[in-house]
Amino acid sequence: MAEVLVYVDHVDGAVRKPTLELLTLARRIGDPVALHLGAGAEEAAKTLGEYGAVKVLAADAPEFADYLVVPKVDALQAAYDAVSPAAVLVPSSSEGKEIAARLAVRIGSGLITDAVDLEAGDEGPVASQSVFAAGFTTKSRVTKGTPVITVKPNSAAPEAAPAAGAVEQLSVTFGEKSTGTKIVARTPRESTGRPELTEAAIVVSGGRGVNGAENFHIIESLADSLGAAVGASRAAVDAGWYPHSNQVGQTGKTVSPQLYIATGISGAIQHRAGMQTSKTIVAVNKDAEAPIFDLVDYGVVGDLFDVVPALTEEVKARKG
Ligand code: FAD
Repeated sequence: MAEVLVYVDHVDGAVRKPTLELLTLARRIGDPVALHLGAGAEEAAKTLGEYGAVKVLAADAPEFADYLVVPKVDALQAAYDAVSPAAVLVPSSSEGKEIAARLAVRIGSGLITDAVDLEAGDEGPVASQSVFAAGFTTKSRVTKGTPVITVKPNSAAPEAAPAAGAVEQLSVTFGEKSTGTKIVARTPRESTGRPELTEAAIVVSGGRGVNGAENFHIIESLADSLGAAVGASRAAVDAGWYPHSNQVGQTGKTVSPQLYIATGISGAIQHRAGMQTSKTIVAVNKDAEAPIFDLVDYGVVGDLFDVVPALTEEVKARKG
């Protein structure tokens, strides 16, 4: 069976969920071979094997941490040369897209970014992309070279499928250009203790109806009672009430949690583009005619300043 190269996104060997989704999608095309860069390959290999990686290629070098993406592209190209895969799958993060694009140029292949689904086709993998604010789904196939495809988080439910996942060291040589841009400082973001937005099982979002940064604690309290991530509409972000990293929508992040709670959000098409594939959608809005209610599984017509704190208290009471 053909092999499919999967670029691993991890934090110190803890494999992130989008990679497990890639492994799940990769199995539709062939046998996944994972590429792990940096420390923690042995630890990561246990998870990667559990989700279907037949092999884990591992490389560790200071260049991966000290410079921007080019050393990682060198490693991906070395893995590509070693495996001759039927396709290369990379998570659709901003770094992932840059790595994928650079590899595609180097190997003279076509590139598809931000796929939301992937299937095997007679003439190679077929990738689905969601376009025009999720109004249409297009299906595309790479016609030149080995397909390089980036896949958005939450595109598939990770499915375990135990495979060998044996670690093999990969030798990588860095060219002069690899170390052209050095990272000079790293400032860790203050941890909120909440799950990452695109990986969270529950997301509670606030919009213009929250009416000020000082009121977002109401949304955060509900999120914390549920172990959820906090999202925001662009109106709330543009007003400076919440960081852009928490924006959900066409120009923000795409989420697909089990439960999405939209509070004080009207449901503009650009917001829907980032959350409409959520499994269960709940909205709290004081306007019964708000378009968000066309989309919801459960809607509450009411003032969020009454409804959200009451909901938070109820959740806490039920948890004991
Ligand atoms: P509004 O549309 O103003 O809605 C506020 C809602 O809050 C109303 O429905 C109101 O009834 C309700 N409300 C008010 N007070 C209360 C209360 N006390 N209790 C309960 N409900 C209350 N938007 C995004 O969200 N994400 C994107 O990524 C994004 N990208 C965009 C890209 C482009 C190119 C463009 C043109 C627009 C984009 N937008 C995006 C903006 C989008 O069109 C909307 O303007 C935006 O989503 C509106 O945000 P909102 O729902 O919070 O505000």
